Amino acid sequence: MDDILIVGGGIGGLTLGLALHAAKIPCRIFESAAEIRAVGVGINLLPHATKELAALGLEADLARVAIATKDSTFFNRFGQLIYQEPLGRAAGYDHPQFSIHRGDLQMVLLEAFKSRAGADRILTNHTCTGVEQDDAGVTLQFSSGKSVRGRAAIACDGINSVIRKQFFPDEGEPRYSGVNMWRGVTRWKPILSGASLTRAGWLTHGKMVIYPIREAGSDGLQLVNWVAEIETPVYRRRDWNRAGSLDDFIGAFADWHFDWLDVPAFIRAADHVLEFPMVDQDPLPRWS
Ligand SMILES: Cc1cc2nc3c(=O)[nH]c(=O)nc-3n(C[C@H](O)[C@H](O)[C@H](O)COP(=O)(O)OP(=O)(O)OC[C@H]3O[C@@H](n4cnc5c(N)ncnc54)[C@H](O)[C@@H]3O)c2cc1C
Repeated sequence: MDDILIVGGGIGGLTLGLALHAAKIPCRIFESAAEIRAVGVGINLLPHATKELAALGLEADLARVAIATKDSTFFNRFGQLIYQEPLGRAAGYDHPQFSIHRGDLQMVLLEAFKSRAGADRILTNHTCTGVEQDDAGVTLQFSSGKSVRGRAAIACDGINSVIRKQFFPDEGEPRYSGVNMWRGVTRWKPILSGASLTRAGWLTHGKMVIYPIREAGSDGLQLVNWVAEIETPVYRRRDWNRAGSLDDFIGAFADWHFDWLDVPAFIRAADHVLEFPMVDQDPLPRWS
């Protein structure tokens, strides 16, 4: 009854759980997935984010699984360098920029939460359907019919949040930006500095964002995240696990044979391709 109830065991929910535990505030996390598995592709953690994660004692664990990104490079669609600047510690920040697989980030957070707060403090297979508040606290409702009482509830249930919809039913779906994205990871030898966040081209003709997210193993190949972004009038609702098709976008990059990367060969070597629309949602007028 004294617990803070966190809905969603993603990046926000787990980080909040660790922060509450550090502040000695008891909490429990309720996650809809039957099992937390390392899904997704790459994410960049900038120094203002890694500062917070370092304050939770996680910098060394993250450094073990991430790439400390050193520089940003911008090329045109003919592969010519337009602009370059240092990033993270190389740019003088006190904290690094990490390029990391979302699954690796989530696993670092999950293992830290389980070892510090206790494995019984995160409950999977709990799909929240709503929350009610009274003078004494809150009640979370779950799709199984179960309900749980707590001191307060915090919604960390991601972009399709059911709790946000309960409080703001008329917001509508996230707004499509007009840009569709195809994403993947490819095992490839280090590109440029081996710790570069690289952008090439532009949205009208096709833009690529490329950065490594795991150090090379004995085969010398890094795990490299890439995103192809193209202005596209139609899109389908965001689903983090939707498979994409190479034929829908590879034409835009067919002649991108640069001296620093053969882009079509690199895309074709991907482990798998996902497709997400780039969407946006206005901030809420209040958070409580
Ligand atoms: C499967 C998946 C893959 C992703 N891949 C990428 C990626 O490759 N690159 C990228 O930049 N971002 C990715 N994201 C998004 C990114 O993690 C988040 O947008 C960002 O980290 C914000 O974190 P968040 O905690 O708000 O949301 P998320 O990290 O999305 O976490 C939300 C969590 O809430 C759970 N949840 C949802 N509804 C309920 C409910 N009703 N009851 C209980 N639990 C619920 C979800 O299962 C999820 O674990 C992905 C998210 C997911 C869920």
